[in-house]
Amino acid sequence: MTIQVEIDARSGFCGGVIRAVAKAEEILDAGGELYSLGEIVHNEAELARLHAKGLKTLKPGELKGCSGKTALIRAHGEPPETYSQARELGVRLVDCTCPVVLRLQKSIQEAYARMKKVGGQVIIFGKIGHPEVLGLLGQVGGDAVVIENEQTLKEALSSGRIHTERPLEIFSQTTKSPDEYSAIRSELLRIAGAEVKIHDTICRQVASRHSELGAFAKRHAVIVFVSGASSSNGKVLFDLCAGVNPNTHRISSSEDLSSSWFRDGDTVGVCGATSTPRWLLEEVADAIRRISEIAGAKGD
Ligand code: SF4
Repeated sequence: MTIQVEIDARSGFCGGVIRAVAKAEEILDAGGELYSLGEIVHNEAELARLHAKGLKTLKPGELKGCSGKTALIRAHGEPPETYSQARELGVRLVDCTCPVVLRLQKSIQEAYARMKKVGGQVIIFGKIGHPEVLGLLGQVGGDAVVIENEQTLKEALSSGRIHTERPLEIFSQTTKSPDEYSAIRSELLRIAGAEVKIHDTICRQVASRHSELGAFAKRHAVIVFVSGASSSNGKVLFDLCAGVNPNTHRISSSEDLSSSWFRDGDTVGVCGATSTPRWLLEEVADAIRRISEIAGAKGD
């Protein structure tokens, strides 16, 4: 069996994750002790690699036990309370909040001040409970409406949580789908009785990946999408690939591969999320090539 394997050149860590992981490795390689406030990246394999180097991941509420220690704020950012709590506890923070997320946090604070003056509301299109969204909500003391999809928008409208007769400002989590955000914005504009200010806050790196990944997925007979189970961006990009190529399989490591997915002459595209490390994509591509060689040796 002969299979051609191509790794998507644009897949792999985004700039924000590269920066946070590099900073963590710099501290760990210098022999430092480092705690991460939550998973530094939503990818089990990369976490295992960093944990082996000594990184310790804190669960919510565990900062209390870190007085005098060093804790890293990941690219998703944190609400202001985390900074004040760390100050009170004497925890040294290494702030790796992505600059794009920092700008978004500031914009939401400013919009909230504007909306307060006119009785309007701030809406965040994002995954409920996602760390980036919790950090954004924290900028406005939790006083914003989070909508996850068109269904939750409908529910928020019918329950009166969104007041369409008042001004609204809407922002998106950086890793959401541009197409979904566009649909949500259109619906809000359609029903609004007052001004709706739209903020285009999907990360440029994510938005450009969407259009390019669709073309990549169409170009191959089979797509192997690699991402951690808890990656929000992984779910969005996997759905995109599966939408244009029904032969798309989501895996978290090469152990999840099945030889039954491939046929002689197939071209296989390997791609992943903004939280998927490049080394893991390469490992998966090598494992597919081995499947091809073994099948070829057997004469399959
Ligand atoms: S997706 Fe974009 S905004 Fe979000 S952490 Fe990565 S680079 Fe920053």
